[in-house]
This record gives sequence, C-alpha cells and structure tokens, in this order.
Amino acid sequence: MQSITVLGATGSIGTSTLDVVARHPDRYRVFALTAHQRVDALAALCRRFRPEFAVVSDAPRAARLRSLLAQDSGATEVLEGAQALAWVAAHEQADTVMAAIVGTAGLEASLAAARAGKRVLLANKEALVTAGRLYVDAARAAGATLLPIDSEHNAIFQCLPPAAQADAAALQAGGVRRILLTASGGPFRSRSLQELATVSPEEACAHPNWSMGRKISVDSATMMNKGLELIEAHFLFGLPEQQIDIVVHPQSVIHSLVEYLDGSLLAQLGNPDMRTPIAHALAYPARIDSGVGALDLPALGRLDFEPPDPSRFPCLRLAREALRSGGGAPCVLNAANELAVAAFLGGRLRFTAIAELVERVLEAVGSRSAPGSLDEALALDAEARALAQAGIPRLAA
Ligand code: NDP
Ligand code: MG
Repeated sequence: MQSITVLGATGSIGTSTLDVVARHPDRYRVFALTAHQRVDALAALCRRFRPEFAVVSDAPRAARLRSLLAQDSGATEVLEGAQALAWVAAHEQADTVMAAIVGTAGLEASLAAARAGKRVLLANKEALVTAGRLYVDAARAAGATLLPIDSEHNAIFQCLPPAAQADAAALQAGGVRRILLTASGGPFRSRSLQELATVSPEEACAHPNWSMGRKISVDSATMMNKGLELIEAHFLFGLPEQQIDIVVHPQSVIHSLVEYLDGSLLAQLGNPDMRTPIAHALAYPARIDSGVGALDLPALGRLDFEPPDPSRFPCLRLAREALRSGGGAPCVLNAANELAVAAFLGGRLRFTAIAELVERVLEAVGSRSAPGSLDEALALDAEARALAQAGIPRLAA
C-alpha cells in the first residue's frame, strides 16, 4: 500500500491523479491533499478520500475548510501555509508525492519531497526550470526517485533503456543520440502574427487536445510550454541543449520520441489524457489501469508533423537561449513568463507582449548565476517578477 501526498489536489493534474488513485483502493491511500484557494473543492475531496492532512494557503481559508469538515468524523486535520505544504511533502508517512502545484509556488514543497528521498511524481515543471541543478542534485543526494508526469518527459522516460531510467548519467552510454519533444502547436498553430496580437485569454485557454489549468494553457498557446519542457528535459535527462529537438505534431498522439545511434526512433503513443503518464508513474515499474481508452489507429487515420515556427512563437527561441546561456537565465525566463501570463489572463497585456516582456527581463538580469539554494532561487525569481511588473505599463501602452 502506497501512501500519497497530492500537492495541488484541486487542479487539473491533481484531479486526474485522484481519479487514478480511486480506481485502485488496494494499492493507494491518500495521506495529504493540498490546495490554494478552492476550499469547497478541497472539502469535497477530503470527504471522499479521507486524508490525514489537508493544507490550504492561509488562516482564513483553513478556518473555512475546518468549518466545512466540522460535521465529518474529524478524520482530516487542516493546516495552512508554505511550511505545512513542505511538511506534508516530506512527512515520513508519505511514500509518494505528486508535485502538481502550478508555478514557482510549488518549488519549496516539491524540493522538500526530493530532499526527504520520496518517490516524486513531478508535474510542476516550473520548479525544475527555476532551480534545475539544485533540484536534481538534491534528489540524487537523498536517493529520491524522480518520475516525470509531463506527458513528453514521461514518454521519453518510457522509451529509455532501464539503466538510463534509473540514472540519467547512463543515457549517452545507452546509445541515445537525441530526444525529440512533440508539441501540439496549441490553439494558434496556424494563426498569423497579426491575428495573434488580438487573441483573448478565452481563445488562448481553449486547447485543441488537452484540458489543463489556465497558466499551462496559455504557455501552450505561446509555445513557452515547449520551451519550459526543453529546459525540463535537459535537467531530467542530462542531455545538452543541442541533443533536444522539437517537432510540431498537431494530433498529440505521439507524446515524444528517443532517437538512438543506430537510427531507431522509439515513441510512446496514447490518447491525450494525463491519466496515462500519471498511472505509469504511480505504479512504475508495474502497469495499472488508468481509465484511459485504447488508441484507435484506423479511426485516427494519420499522424502529421511540421517544424515549429520561431517567428510566430518567439518564446521557443527565448527558452533555448536561456538554456544555452545557463546560470540563472532559466529561472528569470520562468519568473518573467509567470508574471506575463498572469497579466495577459488579467487583461493587462496583449498575447504577443508576453514574449516581449520575457525578453526584456532576460536582457536585464538573464546573466545572473544559477541559484545555489532555495533562498537564492526565490530571490532571483522575485527580482525578475518585479522587473516584469515594472515593464508592463510600457508594453501595454
Ligand atoms: P491547475 O491550475 O489546474 O492547478 C494548480 C493547483 O495548484 C491547484 O490545486 C491550485 O489550488 C494549486 N495552487 C495554485 N497556486 C498555488 C499556490 N500559490 N500555493 C499552493 N498551491 C497553489 O494547474 P495544472 O494542474 O494544469 O498544472 C499543475 C502543474 O502541472 C503545472 O506546473 C503544469 O505545468 C504541470 N502540467 C500540467 C499538465 C496538465 O495537463 N494540466 C500537463 C503537464 C504538466 P487551487 O485550486 O485552490 O487554486
Ligand atoms: Mg507537456
């Protein structure tokens, strides 16, 4: 019986995780669930899964959750704040931690899980982009198992030889020449640059293949998501930037590929449903039912591919440059992007200004050195956000 903490339980990944968990009551029990502000949704999850702990972001929300759960048998103890998040992630009674908080907000708790040597199911890609070296080194030192949830990285993991699954250092020795990340191209794959300037948050969040949280949906529309995934792949699999390529594949059926020295290209295919990578990582190395139906290839008929267009999707270039320059650049890229996306969703920034803002912040502080501690990572993140915030009025004008 595996005992699980789900960080970000009310989100898209959190909900899919609990859907898989509920199919296997003989294998999994829920130790802790966390959320930020959706207290009602968290209360419903607590009634259903009866975790030992539930965590929300502040005292008023914790009080509200306690009152919602008051009629219950008192099975769940309610806690609040960042420290409590890290505590349930590192708790000795939790074997597995699903890291599914969105953004840098998830870094501290996800890092706490890695440092406690947990089996970490990593969805929170921003944590790796912000503090990749620090994160991966901490996981290795503590003997934590990192299992990628991002569908592309999970696909790559599945296509690797077992030795390289256990240790990224064995990738080159295993004959891997290159990894190929697939990208759907998002909702604006065929829009002109001119059209992109006026798209709305609602259009940006309407992804053709995946149903996801709003932040990652916008990242998919700008293709910054693929840029973040490029950096995520670098840290997870230890390959240099030149050995990680991106191909647009609009059907999102091939989730990514690994190319070997002999010319073999191994791919993982499946319906675009996050319960597949989640079930894979939950049960690894076993296989369990995820609730996802079989892929009907004749019904699908065809699989298409095209190169990404850097002129309409400059975020891809920015992410690649940030990875190439290394140091603190990925952290700055991520922080500026988070702020820019929030400004776009709030109606304060045009869609095409997201990349412009990120580029300006990278020009200002992108040459900083890589954060050597959590505090340094959070400080650089805060500095980049402040610069991005200050840059909004000029771009909005
Ligand atoms: P959602 O926005 O749907 O969910 C985010 C979760 O994090 C919610 O539970 C939310 O709580 C919680 N949260 C948000 N802000 C904070 C905060 N400041 N402190 C603590 N908790 C917080 O996001 P997704 O599930 O879509 O994405 C989660 C992560 O997984 C992201 O890093 C994303 O990039 C990654 N990912 C997602 C995929 C997907 O298909 N959705 C695919 C691949 C990766 P509340 O609900 O209360 O606001
Ligand atoms: Mg992905």
